[in-house]
Amino acid sequence: MIPIARPVLGPEEAEAATRVVRSGWLTQGPEVAAFEYEFAAAVGAPHACAVANCTVALHLALLAVCVGPGDEVVTVSHTFIATANAVRQCGAVPVFVDIDPSTFNMDPSLLEAAITPRTRAILCVHQMGMPCDLEPILRIGRAYGLAVVEDAACAIGSEVRVGNEWKAVGAPHGDIACFSLHPRKILTVGDGGMLTTANPDYDRFFRLRRQHGMSVPDTVRHGSARVIFEDYPVPGFNYRMTDVQAAIGREQLKRLPEILAERRAMADDYAALLADEVPDATPPVEPDYGRSNWQSYCVRLPAGADQRRVMQAMLDEGIATRRGIMNVHQEAAAADLPIRFPLPESEAARDGCVLLPLHAEVSPDDRRRIVRALKDALA
Ligand SMILES: *Cc1c(COP(=O)(O)O)cnc(C)c1O
Repeated sequence: MIPIARPVLGPEEAEAATRVVRSGWLTQGPEVAAFEYEFAAAVGAPHACAVANCTVALHLALLAVCVGPGDEVVTVSHTFIATANAVRQCGAVPVFVDIDPSTFNMDPSLLEAAITPRTRAILCVHQMGMPCDLEPILRIGRAYGLAVVEDAACAIGSEVRVGNEWKAVGAPHGDIACFSLHPRKILTVGDGGMLTTANPDYDRFFRLRRQHGMSVPDTVRHGSARVIFEDYPVPGFNYRMTDVQAAIGREQLKRLPEILAERRAMADDYAALLADEVPDATPPVEPDYGRSNWQSYCVRLPAGADQRRVMQAMLDEGIATRRGIMNVHQEAAAADLPIRFPLPESEAARDGCVLLPLHAEVSPDDRRRIVRALKDALA
């Protein structure tokens, strides 16, 4: 059986977790601080703040840019439901625009029509690690005075072109970028999230809210020779990452260059195999403004193909696939949300694509087998 995804975990991660357990300090502490420092360096961001997962990272990011009850946030429906749920958690309404079918990301040409006097922010997604078209999105954000938050859950190591330079997703582009460290992403700590920003006020906002709005963290009080009383200037949450997770994350981060190189080589290999064997399927292609980390490899089936039948035939051959990314507006959970715009490309992407397994344990032979199985399933 070839699974759809599999984290890269070795003895280094196990030893890191053991080291933290032996230290006697398990919750947010020195390992979290070190992981933040190293993560910020890896993406070229002035600040990185670790939290429990990307969903709460998105919640904090939206709160920091003053999204509140009655506001609207323009985003995509074609995303994991957490993107929209984070907006709703602020009491705000997600307004969905359709995607560019070639990248599965927000179509910037549809953005302006979705902006109303209630719009407070733009929440774009780098879906499956494929960067969205940030430059026009940022231009529109600036023109309308709207914050731009990037849902970079899948996009650690992805790159965007800014002018003539390539920069990591998470470097200062939008106001805040939010990453996930769930096992379905390319680096994992079990569950974890990270917020990056160039704005020190936002970073302070995250640090205060993630720990109950507490003025002096327990690490500081613990290490102090003088009695310190903390206070609680604002309401907050418990959105902390633990030191066990952070220690694992530091080991994962060391693997990033190797994981990226391997995934990029596999994506190239898939593209060549598909061109040979299944020329009427459409492999994912990087736009000229972005480089993917290939968190997922999404193939568009030929028109008229029966997605469920193709996936079942592949599963019968021992190959796990997934359908295209979900659309929030097609779920019962979104029944109370306004659908202001038609979303035909989002709907076609969910129902017309399959994700192929792409991870360290998919060998060249496996890839040939997978593409052959796809070809047979389509025949
Ligand atoms: C995985 C994912 C999330 C949620 O991440 P968690 O860390 O599981 O909370 C949010 N948005 C997108 C696009 C995702 O793929």
